[in-house]
Amino acid sequence: MQKLRQVFSRIDGRGYKSYKELQGKCFLFPDFELYFHHIQGDPFAAPSQLAVRVYQDMAGFPLKSFQPPIRQVALSDYLTRIFYRNIKRFTRGSRGSGKSGSFQIDRPGQEVLERTSMTVNEEYVEARIFAGMPAAGRKVLGREAAEMFIDELPGLVRNSLLYSSLQKEELFNHLYTVEDQDAMRSGLVEKGLVAFVADGSILPRNSGVDQRPLPAEKAVAFQAPSGLEIEMTRPHAGKVRGMGIPGGVTLIVGGGYHGKSTLLRALEQSVYNHIPGDGRENVVADPKAFKIRAEDGRRVEKVNISSFISNLPFGQDTSRFSSDEASGSPSQAANIIEALEAGAKVLLMDEDTSATNFMIRDMRMQLLVAKDREPITPFIDRVRQLYRERGVSTILVIGGAGDYFDVADNVIMMDVYSPALVTGEAREITCRYPSGRRQETEDNFGEIMDRIPQPGSINPYKGRKVKLKAQGLDNLQLGNNDIDLHQVEQIMDPSQNRAAGEMIFYALKEKIIDGKKTLAEIIGELDDIIDGNGLEAISPNPGQARGDYARPRALEVAAVINRLRTLMVKTKI
Ligand code: ADP
Ligand code: MG
Repeated sequence: MQKLRQVFSRIDGRGYKSYKELQGKCFLFPDFELYFHHIQGDPFAAPSQLAVRVYQDMAGFPLKSFQPPIRQVALSDYLTRIFYRNIKRFTRGSRGSGKSGSFQIDRPGQEVLERTSMTVNEEYVEARIFAGMPAAGRKVLGREAAEMFIDELPGLVRNSLLYSSLQKEELFNHLYTVEDQDAMRSGLVEKGLVAFVADGSILPRNSGVDQRPLPAEKAVAFQAPSGLEIEMTRPHAGKVRGMGIPGGVTLIVGGGYHGKSTLLRALEQSVYNHIPGDGRENVVADPKAFKIRAEDGRRVEKVNISSFISNLPFGQDTSRFSSDEASGSPSQAANIIEALEAGAKVLLMDEDTSATNFMIRDMRMQLLVAKDREPITPFIDRVRQLYRERGVSTILVIGGAGDYFDVADNVIMMDVYSPALVTGEAREITCRYPSGRRQETEDNFGEIMDRIPQPGSINPYKGRKVKLKAQGLDNLQLGNNDIDLHQVEQIMDPSQNRAAGEMIFYALKEKIIDGKKTLAEIIGELDDIIDGNGLEAISPNPGQARGDYARPRALEVAAVINRLRTLMVKTKI
């Protein structure tokens, strides 16, 4: 610590590059070690990367706080949040030019994700943080640096990373809430369910840009409809009642503005664990549930969409469909096939974001436009097959197309935000008023074609440098390419986006993308590596990983690769 103080006073007033001498160095403080992994080149560049390590003889975290592995994820998440909060409490914030003079740590949202911002093991707890090294213009502010690192950092660390300084009740509530969700999610399949929504859950969010729950006084709490009520047992909090959605085809119907999309959104996001107080901490969906939508303008590379679209005018081949700007129906078809290829077990769809002609062709349209003139086989004629042949369930928000009653196992009606099970009524209507439409399929759904990404078609370099940059949730820059992700709706955190980019780079470097492995094999292998060695295994410097990666699901990694505009694949049936 004294040495660091000396460095700061020696380089005070010199050029900013003087900070570089800290890079790769480690300094011993009374309670912890401070590592400077990477020092920024100038005050306006991305901040410097540091790590703070507190050994367990000092930190004192008991085994039960980070084992089993799910608690490690939850504890790391908790400590990241505490550290974030304490930066405000225990440091002065910015001092000097640009973003210089402040500490930063990745900021988790409502989800509890596996992250690189914090590691806890039997030996130590380590925070991977960022700091803007303080500057006036491009000159070192040595005194401010000393204030940050010598005066403030020890207090910040003491109050964030020592077990003794934490509120145990809040901490264990965090761990147990996460563990309970994980257990409920894992238990779904055995119960024949694809999702569970506990009574009392708060599903609506504060706003489109604020994922915190709508305040309790404005929200109608969820109450399971009779007919779908079940009881789940949580390892810590015990029994909880709520709605179980069985496998098969489920419709969510109801008038506009009655909460249909809100329920679906909650299911989409409940593939992840949520923090206590989120309102969805007892809502779980199958971990392989994937949101499907129309995605006008997306790139598609050799996807067999012939189950949905065939016989195009001019004989364009749809068994290896490619497009630089796929329109509504083909993009939605490609999204489904790619999701199945990546292992999706539940499809979540909302008519608000679906292509109408992809979803349905009613009797009148069938009479006017004969099947041999219509390339599209609508989803309504495939949805049961998906379940029967592939065990893939669908949950579908539908407010307009009653023909779907014919293919539904369960119909849930939202009425002023409260669900009712109306399958019986829907069946009765089906009998009394047949839709008159003819099924437009005789064949099977068919196999999903293997696609083999070609390594030469994925280039993370821009000039001679690797360029990987996540711009919020919506965009990932990979080399010279911008991958548009704003309609990949289950990426909830920009750090997942960043990690997905890093995973693709890793897969190229390690020859996992080798021109022989299928996309499904590639994402499976990446998942195995992270399961075995932690998320930082995919970073260019494992052991010194940046603190702003969060784990995406394999499904999202595939979605990122599939949206790369330069992607080329080889196919084999
Ligand atoms: P739909 O898809 O049926 O048209 P939405 O799900 O979009 O309806 O919901 C319409 C509005 O109602 C949204 O602004 C949403 O935040 C609000 N809302 C949804 N569910 C609830 C609820 N349980 N309590 C209070 N407001 C809700
Ligand atoms: Mg809606």
